[in-house]
Amino acid sequence: MYGWVPEEHPNSDMAFQVDGVYYLTGIRWRDNEPSLRVQTDATPSAALVEARDLHLRFRIDVETPKRCVGRVERSSEGSTHVDCVSPSTRGRQCERCQIVDNVSAANMHQAHRKGRDSIDQRMAAYLSHPHRLYVAIFRDGSTKIGTTRGSNGGQRLVEQGAWFARYVAHVEDGFLVRELEDLVSESINLGQAVDTRKKFSGHLQAQTNSELQSTLEDLTPKVGQVLKTQNRDGWVPLDETWSNPMLDNAHWKDLVAYPAALTHGAHELTIHSMVGRLAACSRSGFEETFLLDIQPLLGRPLERGDFELDQLVLQESLF
Ligand SMILES: [Zn+2]
Repeated sequence: MYGWVPEEHPNSDMAFQVDGVYYLTGIRWRDNEPSLRVQTDATPSAALVEARDLHLRFRIDVETPKRCVGRVERSSEGSTHVDCVSPSTRGRQCERCQIVDNVSAANMHQAHRKGRDSIDQRMAAYLSHPHRLYVAIFRDGSTKIGTTRGSNGGQRLVEQGAWFARYVAHVEDGFLVRELEDLVSESINLGQAVDTRKKFSGHLQAQTNSELQSTLEDLTPKVGQVLKTQNRDGWVPLDETWSNPMLDNAHWKDLVAYPAALTHGAHELTIHSMVGRLAACSRSGFEETFLLDIQPLLGRPLERGDFELDQLVLQESLF
């Protein structure tokens, strides 16, 4: 047994009540609500803390080694995050976690080419489950095709920070859905990933919601066309729209890029809302809502304390 215990409910108190450094090791989405994984030396398994309205005041400790952010394990039950307490040696992970994640990514992407008998059994079990194919658009206008496990719901689109999306097919398993995804990508030159820099700049200079919707509206039938030309069993067309729950949230208007690097220094922030790994935050003394990418913080040792904060210097807008 692998002990698939559901992760405990977010709790904003306990994780911050210890001395020494703490680490943010990831973002977990459930029911469209983001939580941050918080690890300390005293609690090797991370506690989940609701990201919304979370106040953070920290100094990056550059002396202490960074911590591995853990890895994902997949089985017939779905995917689950596994915490790790090793220092990170390769990017944000330790060697072992990185190898596990790389093998699993390679298995996932080659599953439909290699066949289900030649991949890891737990991965095969994970993939032998209905999936959906979707087309998504981000606020800068970038589009992609993607897949998600499960027949309904799911957190894949909020996790990635899509703004609008359309589910276009319900597919019997994760092998076929990846074949169809590749086919669409190749046929109409539609990518399978969007760079975070594009997502970030999309919030600073967003296309209007109606522009985005109309681009998606034009793209969807082209995808449908590609799928229809395939005489394949195992999938049915879907026509379900999705929009980001933050669509009308005031924090996602008039954002300013946080004018300091999160790799060093002392910072104070209150997170108001998140879209993917990007957070809309405020800082006392400033009226702006700042946009920042949480990822650079992940795994870094953060010290609590009453130290002096780094000055923020706001640039005059060039536009
Ligand atoms: Zn690790």
